Amino acid sequence: MIRFSEIVTTASDLLLRGGTLLTLDAQATVLRGADLLIREGRIASIGHVEPPAGARVLDVSGCLVLPGLIQGHLHLGQTFFRGLAEERRLLSWLRERIWPLEAAHDDESAYWCAMLGAAECLLGGTTTIQDIGIGPGARGLLQAIADSGLRAFAGQCLMDSGDGMPAVMRPDTDQVLAETAALGDEFAGKAEGRLRYVLNPRFILSCSDPLWEGVRELSLRRGWPVHTHALEQRDETLAVRELKGGRDEVQYFADQGLLATDLRLAHGVWITHEHLDRVRGGRFSVVHCPSSNLKLGSGVADLLAFHRAGVPVGIGCDGAACSNQLDNFAEVRLAGLLQKVKHGPDAFSGLDALRLATSEGARALGLQNEVGTIEPGKHADLAVLASDRPELWAAPQADPHDLVAFGASRAVVRHVLVGGRLEVEEGRLTRLNLEEIYRESERCLGELIRRSGVGL
Ligand SMILES: [Zn+2]
Repeated sequence: MIRFSEIVTTASDLLLRGGTLLTLDAQATVLRGADLLIREGRIASIGHVEPPAGARVLDVSGCLVLPGLIQGHLHLGQTFFRGLAEERRLLSWLRERIWPLEAAHDDESAYWCAMLGAAECLLGGTTTIQDIGIGPGARGLLQAIADSGLRAFAGQCLMDSGDGMPAVMRPDTDQVLAETAALGDEFAGKAEGRLRYVLNPRFILSCSDPLWEGVRELSLRRGWPVHTHALEQRDETLAVRELKGGRDEVQYFADQGLLATDLRLAHGVWITHEHLDRVRGGRFSVVHCPSSNLKLGSGVADLLAFHRAGVPVGIGCDGAACSNQLDNFAEVRLAGLLQKVKHGPDAFSGLDALRLATSEGARALGLQNEVGTIEPGKHADLAVLASDRPELWAAPQADPHDLVAFGASRAVVRHVLVGGRLEVEEGRLTRLNLEEIYRESERCLGELIRRSGVGL
């Protein structure tokens, strides 16, 4: 246990007093009745800490304090489309509704659409996201993420081809590569360093060979990671084989040199042991999206196979258009339950599930030295859960990781801090104005639906 010693007071000091800290460190240490001192946005010390003179003290006694949740795969640009593409298979879902709606975004609609999603994430205890972006309106989306208070990997969604895709989403390959490089130069490091840039080729069916080659070159030259969808549905993998001369996604990525990049795959439901042998030892991760996979009938990913192969697994809500809610606690619970169905009730614990959204989720994004655990030196990205909720009331012998993984939801979130700043206090957003977001979203969405030509 680290104790307070010789710490000089600054105006930014904040002491969380008397909580139960779920550190999610390597030993899954739980500290009961512990204090947590935040200095200059980082965790300065944990344990028994006397408040430095002038520090603000926030009483969190009886509350569970855990690392802020990490969502490794999100589409904030689809938040407006919640409920507008139900009962469709993936490729129809994209072609009939999601692509035409996304194509109608402009910077303003994208800004408020992303703000709406960011507000939902923060209120639910999410502090870090990885967003796959949109094409038209990408600048507005990036600006919203920069303004939201979230920590993020974000970038423009890259596409240049594809059956059934609106023309505006199929720009010239060189043009889209130049645009994304310029956006990366503009936005990387924004928001006091909270925003990092990521290259987001959408998926194999919407990106030409030259686009993947350009992505690989940009990634290796600028050090930007690559985030894409792959192996989500059987229909999709069959279409990829047809398009790419019988090669599956991982063979194709290997041929394109993508396995040499920091490659982050959303879904991976249909990854095989042969695929995992091929990516072993590389900088490769998977982001599990269980609600989306169930809603779109995609299947259940085998997280134990990823673990055996040493592949870090993150978790995310995907987007409001497919999972309806951006509550990462719901994903954690589902992930745990699905692995129990797949492998047996003793195969995957509440702690295993909670790590997907904290310590392991951080590894999936290469952020393990910055966030994902409660340890001195890390960013003070934290979620404080209310002490007065019946669903968290339990015998002291109960493992708090199980209580959170299987019993928590966004309803229990009381405070949320990102970089030591209280973004949510007593269940209310402090930076974002929800009334304004609703008002602007309503205005922008009406105009967007008219522009899209989708018969709604
Ligand atoms: Zn997705």
